[in-house]
Amino acid sequence: MANSDSGSVPDMLTPEILTPIWMKAFEEKRYKDALLLGLVSYIVFRERNSEDEQMASLLAIRAVIDNLSPRPSGDQCSFCGRRPPAVRLAAGPDAFICDDCVSTLNATFKESDTR
Ligand SMILES: [Zn+2]
Repeated sequence: MANSDSGSVPDMLTPEILTPIWMKAFEEKRYKDALLLGLVSYIVFRERNSEDEQMASLLAIRAVIDNLSPRPSGDQCSFCGRRPPAVRLAAGPDAFICDDCVSTLNATFKESDTR
């Protein structure tokens, strides 16, 4: 990126300033604000060639993305929501079911069979 204004990144954008702002946004679950702050931090520290701060910014961005992303549903029962090791799971094409829910459904279906 050609930049005739090298050093144009405001000096006030230091880790000491940016980190508490990011932490506040993250703790208040304002993840989109935190994401933008992480991106701004990354750009600022890249301009300054601060490797450690760049890495910290990437970790901050990843923490935000982890919180914004839907949880993978592959590891919990689609019926009761419990997860291993509390239950054992069986997988269907788009759902999972645990051993407890299988037992419950078995009992339910047996009752309806005896009618
Ligand atoms: Zn279940």
